[in-house]
Amino acid sequence: AQGDLEIVLLDILKELHSKYKSLQEGVVANYIPELAKVNPDLFSICIVTVDGQVYEIGDYEQLFTIQSISKVFAYGLALEDHGQVEVLKRVGVEPTGEAFNAIILDEQSKRPYNPMVNAGAIATTSLIKGSGATERLNRMLDMFQRYIGRDVFVDISVFTSERSTGHRNRAMAHLMLNFGMIDRNIEEALDLYFQQCAVIVNCHDLAVMAATLANRGINPISKKQAVDKRYIKDILSVMYTCGMYNFAGEWAYKIGIPAKSGVCGGIIAVVPHKMGIGVFSPPLDARGNSVRGVKVCEELSQQLGLHLFECS
Ligand code: GLN
Repeated sequence: AQGDLEIVLLDILKELHSKYKSLQEGVVANYIPELAKVNPDLFSICIVTVDGQVYEIGDYEQLFTIQSISKVFAYGLALEDHGQVEVLKRVGVEPTGEAFNAIILDEQSKRPYNPMVNAGAIATTSLIKGSGATERLNRMLDMFQRYIGRDVFVDISVFTSERSTGHRNRAMAHLMLNFGMIDRNIEEALDLYFQQCAVIVNCHDLAVMAATLANRGINPISKKQAVDKRYIKDILSVMYTCGMYNFAGEWAYKIGIPAKSGVCGGIIAVVPHKMGIGVFSPPLDARGNSVRGVKVCEELSQQLGLHLFECS
């Protein structure tokens, strides 16, 4: 039976890849030159099951920076460092219905709405423990390493470019400093946020990371625990309600599994106890989600019956 599933899954991936590779919609992120120069035709899909089977097609070894997909994993680390109660004091779990870079805080609590949008992600990252900037960066990289299963590196050009142009993110950090939602040196918190966004991955890595979340926090290839399993439900809940920004509601309705996108054109999607999905295709729609990525996930969800509330 395993053999049959293998053939079926690979066939589906091949079919989706050839169906959507000619789709020419969307625009590659262009707020920094390093992202603007990416080839818009790059396209890959990878599925990793919780028992470690890998199915992949296209440019799945192509490296890119993880961008906003990092927010999911940084949130897990902040939860491990402080626990749910403390993290909730600084970052909410309410969808914004706004763009990922909206400069808004919850009117009453002054918290950023959720950890999947920029403001909430910057507050989350400011919670990462460590005795100095280097130790915090190393703890962050170690965390990514556990999910990915190999050494990870930061793209220095992307990091410095983000840092020198990221004034909107800087404005959010100042606003949160004003309301006491960030207490550390904000330039240091922003540096760590820009560094986490510049972590280098490929589409295969994305699927392994997603599969780790699907597998109670255990990387299905290396078999190592990447995150304490007690936080998996917190992580997946905010992905489900907030991971696709102002498309999160429609995504939950149509596709029905926790997911997270980034301006790199990557999407991870998690089918709990079954598999992780990674898609990479740089052109983005108006909300900052990969055009081909959304289409592929929609079809995969339909064909494989992945919607969490599907009655089979
Ligand atoms: N580095 C980007 C930023 O902070 C990440 C945003 C994203 O991927 N949506 O603006």
